[in-house]
Amino acid sequence: MTDDQSTCLCPTPWPRLITVIEEREYNVTPAPAHSPASALYLAQCAACRTPYKHAWKRVPPPDPR
Ligand SMILES: [Zn+2]
Repeated sequence: MTDDQSTCLCPTPWPRLITVIEEREYNVTPAPAHSPASALYLAQCAACRTPYKHAWKRVPPPDPR
């Protein structure tokens, strides 16, 4: 029995990761360790919506300057 359901189906795996918090999407990136947000929310592939079950962190928004 395999439990590897977390395989992205895109030609390039995990082209972009997002998380949805309170119906808003945020860009996230893989991280070596869980953060408080990643413990609460699952990230997912932005294209095929496969849940990404590893640690991630928020990508800071671009500096508007
Ligand atoms: Zn995907």
